[in-house]
Amino acid sequence: MAKPVLLTVDDDREVLRAIERDLRRKYAGDYRVLRAESGPAALEIIRELKVRNNAVALFLVDQRMPGLSGVEFLEQAIKLYPDAKRVLLTAYADTDAAIAAINEAGINHYLLKPWDPPEENLYPVLDELLEDWQATFPPQFEGIRVLGNRWSPASHNIKDFLARNHVPYQWLDIETAGTDAEVRSVVDLLEEKEKRDLPLVIFPNGLRLHQPTLGELAQNSGLKTRAAETFYDLAIVGGGPAGLAAAVYGASEGLRTVMIEREAPGGQAGMSSRIENYLGFPTGLSGGDLARRAVVQARRFGVEILSAEATSIRLDGPYRLLKLRDGAELSCHALLVATGVEWRKLDAPGVERLTGAGIYYGAAMTEAMSTRDEDVFIVGGANSAGQAAMYFSKYARRVVMLVRGSSLAASMSQYLIKQLKETTNIQIEFDSSVVEAHGQDRLEAISVLCTKSNEVNIVPANSLFIMIGAAPNTNWLADIVERDERGFILSGPDLVRDGKRPKGWQLDRDPALLETSVPGIFVVGDVRHGSVKRVASGVGEGSVAISFVHQYLSKVV
Ligand SMILES: Cc1cc2nc3c(=O)[nH]c(=O)nc-3n(C[C@H](O)[C@H](O)[C@H](O)COP(=O)(O)OP(=O)(O)OC[C@H]3O[C@@H](n4cnc5c(N)ncnc54)[C@H](O)[C@@H]3O)c2cc1C
Repeated sequence: MAKPVLLTVDDDREVLRAIERDLRRKYAGDYRVLRAESGPAALEIIRELKVRNNAVALFLVDQRMPGLSGVEFLEQAIKLYPDAKRVLLTAYADTDAAIAAINEAGINHYLLKPWDPPEENLYPVLDELLEDWQATFPPQFEGIRVLGNRWSPASHNIKDFLARNHVPYQWLDIETAGTDAEVRSVVDLLEEKEKRDLPLVIFPNGLRLHQPTLGELAQNSGLKTRAAETFYDLAIVGGGPAGLAAAVYGASEGLRTVMIEREAPGGQAGMSSRIENYLGFPTGLSGGDLARRAVVQARRFGVEILSAEATSIRLDGPYRLLKLRDGAELSCHALLVATGVEWRKLDAPGVERLTGAGIYYGAAMTEAMSTRDEDVFIVGGANSAGQAAMYFSKYARRVVMLVRGSSLAASMSQYLIKQLKETTNIQIEFDSSVVEAHGQDRLEAISVLCTKSNEVNIVPANSLFIMIGAAPNTNWLADIVERDERGFILSGPDLVRDGKRPKGWQLDRDPALLETSVPGIFVVGDVRHGSVKRVASGVGEGSVAISFVHQYLSKVV
């Protein structure tokens, strides 16, 4: 935690140096001592401190300064730091004027120059004030702060990325500047241009990034974006349950392992508010929690986790070369594809335009707090939609599930159907499809078609969460490995047709279970053709694949 600041201001350099020295001598362990040679310079400093969200405990200010007197400075400073203690330094001759000004600037104390010896004339006064400040001052949030608009897709992406990577951040919604003093205090300090270029991410070291890419965000929030080595025994693309399991087993069995994840470890499971059917967790656990535990476990075994996106693969003899979005390349002997699936897009007018501005794919848990006391609409009738409905029902006034079919029985687990029925603020509308989304800059209404009556109703809506199945994103692998007509990757026995091995296969053995049409490239989890789309099966495949990786590596030259 950054130390709270003691700021001293005096236009007389010698006096300034002397007071700074005395302050450091006694308080440097617990406070950061800063100094300024004039009121305007001091105001600059505290504006910057405010944007960084650093606390100021005390102002110790000379009264007689050209331009801005001590009292005038303090009158402005307390607007930014109303809780900071205020002490005026005066010469004997100015005592009366200082006392007269005390009420105006709410000054806590005045000290006469010189203050020697400080043990008698300075420290006792400051000790008391600082103790008082410590006792009442709430701890400041000191992580990354994101200032933006709730309805901006870019703001949503940043919040989602940080939350899913377990990077703590504070969200400041610019629309609440009128009512929230903290948001206002930051907004007031920004230049007009900065207010227009939102979202703005403010890092604890003072760095401000406007509309950063996820790569820039990753780089500056402590995530690793560059590989430490150029060669690995095993490279894993995708950090969902399948990739994480493979990483843990691979590294624990001595393989130099790197795992590349473009969004956040945990994958789809990381977005699940409550997984109730994963072995060993009888009361369920959130996907975020599962992901966090798995990441700790993987790191403990020495897995290198990169926040990056794999964009292509090249083969060079026994080497598989992986190209990343930033142009970097790394090579490995065995490559494991665990890229899962992505939400299928809802094809209706207005939906694409308003995605991120009230319309979200998946449960988008980062938006839950914003839906407090509002109506939330969820499209979909599978387990993911049911879990999301349960999750949002804790915040929203009403959750409406729009289900295309006329029952949930075929698509959702029985335990979830029971929970939905027992939750009073969840309403399920069957035979219903969203056919249009309306709104200028953000979602304002949706058109819902009732397929039984063929009627279309326009319903006011601010939040729509879409969960209508998923598709693999494997086009970047299209020229390398064999896929089925929907893009899922074929493996093992699926590749041997009429006794024939896949095209280009040169080894005198069939592809191993979970091996693709290219020797040494394996596939696990949801992205695999024929997979069972569950956390446990992904984890199972990820761990089993490692034994085939070992067999492959034992022969590779
Ligand atoms: C909301 C929700 C609730 C669910 N609830 C349950 C449940 O209760 N029980 C259950 O068993 N299952 C549940 N599932 C299903 C389960 O989450 C999935 O089956 C499981 O996550 C699949 O794991 P995976 O590792 O194969 O892929 P994913 O979880 O999809 O992970 C793939 C990862 O690869 C990354 N990636 C993709 N392409 C690239 C690339 N080119 N470069 C780098 N990284 C890339 C993605 O960002 C992603 O993080 C749920 C799914 C959802 C969406």
